[in-house]
Amino acid sequence: MESRSVRTVRRVVERAAAVLRRRGLPEARLDVEVLLGFVLGVSRASLVARDDLEVDARSRAVFAGLLRRRARRVPVAYLIGRREFFGRAFRVDPRVLVPRPDTETLVERALLWIRARSGPLRVLDVGTGSGCIGITLALEDPRVTCVAIDASADAVACARSNAEVWDVGDRFDARAVAVESFEPGDPFDLIVSNPPYVEPDEPCDPETAHEPDLALRGASGPFPAIYDALLTGARRALRRGGAMMVEVGSGQADVVMSRFERSRLFSRVECAVDLAGVRRVVIGVDASDGHDRTRAP
Ligand code: GLN
Repeated sequence: MESRSVRTVRRVVERAAAVLRRRGLPEARLDVEVLLGFVLGVSRASLVARDDLEVDARSRAVFAGLLRRRARRVPVAYLIGRREFFGRAFRVDPRVLVPRPDTETLVERALLWIRARSGPLRVLDVGTGSGCIGITLALEDPRVTCVAIDASADAVACARSNAEVWDVGDRFDARAVAVESFEPGDPFDLIVSNPPYVEPDEPCDPETAHEPDLALRGASGPFPAIYDALLTGARRALRRGGAMMVEVGSGQADVVMSRFERSRLFSRVECAVDLAGVRRVVIGVDASDGHDRTRAP
């Protein structure tokens, strides 16, 4: 009977995926499986493995609500309240940017630099958002102590809750302050940042309409103002022999690299490409203390 068969996982997934496909969503089926798995409290794998099971009326109603919001391009991460980054789940909500896989390139390069050093390391994460960069660095290397700042107090609350979830609250100190007003105190060995770099008229995925404008476009002024603010901050906060690594938008690497070079803060400036082949991370290393063992293989 149609009315019965429509209630199986398989039928619910097929129908919902068709709805999203008609709306032009590129990963319709994946989105639907993640959302239905979330509603039913099962992993995507077990959902697909048992797609003959029935979806009860209450779950169907909850799922329908999520599907409507997904059709309006609300990011899946906001709908389920989490996003994987560097193999770990982070809490996310509309107060923070959804972590992107591109940013894992920044983390990888930071870890390369960290692992070539000895002793404790002070890291400053500027514009921490969900906290995914600083918390990951603290979890990947127990020598890391991170101060994480964000101009948004809402984002700081989210970052703190992630630090609690991952039990690194004692090495992850999140503060609501813009880089321009940050008082560093003790100097930092490493500064990392995925700052707001989207340019005013730049075309973006429809999902970004649901993300905080402060995290995408910021408040420092047109590109490359935020990078100048980061370099001014580095002049005050970075230790001699330290490094700074920042994510940049597609096509921005050359301008940011020349800003890094002109600052004279670093003895070497380079960039790293992300998985899509985009020059995504600009890296400045001050090897004037003879500590440069960090070239990428
Ligand atoms: N990578 C994001 C995007 O393309 C932007 C993130 C940022 O501004 N730091 O929309």
